[in-house]
Amino acid sequence: MILLRGIRLLYTGLEELSGKDLLIDGGRIEQIADSIDPGKLPTRDVEIVDCSNLLVLPGFINTHHHFYQTLQRCIPEVQDSPLFDWLVFLYEIWRNLDDEAIYWSTLVACGELAKTGCTTTTDNLYVFPRGVSGDFIDVEIEAALKLGLRFHPTRGSMSRGRSKGGLPPDDVVQSGGEILKDSERLIQRYHNPEPGAMTRIALGPCSPFSVSKELLIETRKLASAYGVLLHTHLAETQDEIAYCKDKYGKRPLALMEECGWLGDDVWFAHGIHFSDEELQKLKDTHTGICHCPTSNMRLGSGCARIPEMLSLGVRVGLGVDGSASNDSSDMLGELRNCFLLHRLSGGSAAITTRQVLEMATTGGASLLGRDDVGTLEIGKCADIIGIDVSEISRAGAVHDYLGSVVLCGSCHNVAFTIVNGKFVVRNGRLVNVDEDEVVARANEIALRLRTK
Ligand SMILES: [Zn+2]
Repeated sequence: MILLRGIRLLYTGLEELSGKDLLIDGGRIEQIADSIDPGKLPTRDVEIVDCSNLLVLPGFINTHHHFYQTLQRCIPEVQDSPLFDWLVFLYEIWRNLDDEAIYWSTLVACGELAKTGCTTTTDNLYVFPRGVSGDFIDVEIEAALKLGLRFHPTRGSMSRGRSKGGLPPDDVVQSGGEILKDSERLIQRYHNPEPGAMTRIALGPCSPFSVSKELLIETRKLASAYGVLLHTHLAETQDEIAYCKDKYGKRPLALMEECGWLGDDVWFAHGIHFSDEELQKLKDTHTGICHCPTSNMRLGSGCARIPEMLSLGVRVGLGVDGSASNDSSDMLGELRNCFLLHRLSGGSAAITTRQVLEMATTGGASLLGRDDVGTLEIGKCADIIGIDVSEISRAGAVHDYLGSVVLCGSCHNVAFTIVNGKFVVRNGRLVNVDEDEVVARANEIALRLRTK
């Protein structure tokens, strides 16, 4: 058992409480009370954590990423490129990906996510170069679980190479048959629909300009057959809108509708360039959007209409996106950037700190189809973070410590991260891996991939 004692401020997702104790038993939250006496618990095996200087809240949920891109941060040649040029350059590096690169980049991404307050993450791995093992998702799952995060990998894919009018080179795409077969294998092997699951699979063909319409339709059928979620990039750039109009005679969302890709089991990354009618359609069909503000600013893709989506009642979560376009996996930083972006573009009433916190917790849980994470309630998963309010960056923020999560600080490391009742970060350091080794291996592999 873990007893979080004398919590300075506990944000459950439903209310803000002072001075409470919170008891964790196994992977679940057992009790929240004014005072819990460890001497009266059924076991002596209780770790007591003094939380008198800690703000305790639900762990954040990251709903879009590409872990392997942590090895392509800050590539000078594409620091100033828009999405399509950026992709065409990076495909040449990504065709060198192998199991070792996937394993260590997953540890980097999940390590930074955990240290910045994330407890559940998804990933979209869509590059499977010809001639490699093809077990990339298996490797990711092994690494993410070793690090300790709750993990929803999406089996990404690209089936439309350059010779068929797509953007990626032909040797990093797979046939529809290969993709669907591997997707089914992964669902059967890893997908756990039970409450408290540490691993769930979703299906994530990359984008309208790198997969065929047939694959989108077949992937929808497979997802429905197994009851798994669907995810892709959509309406990220004007280039994508132009591509869809040219290729299909319609806008991206209309294409997805034709493929059966609207509904409460679908969430799209980005969703920047939607019309009023399209926003209403998202709302009416309960289709979700993962907002990636840092990536959208970094690539100059545009500003998603998030305040309008929230007031309409569209389901919205938050995502850091891949580290080649962020160039971080900094979850707390993403909250801050989200807030600032919409204040800049929409004025001081555009968005509140609480709305941003909700997007990163209950919003993300909704996108991933989970009601057992995102809030701190008895019986729910013990996915909990602690933020030290005694550090200098929060001095003077006594008026609203919860607001300080979004508003204060440039160093975003949390004091602890607990996932499924186990410490993943303690005293600001990763518990289950050697951080120095992860950094050294990542740097070595990043250089190898680039010079291969
Ligand atoms: Zn992405």
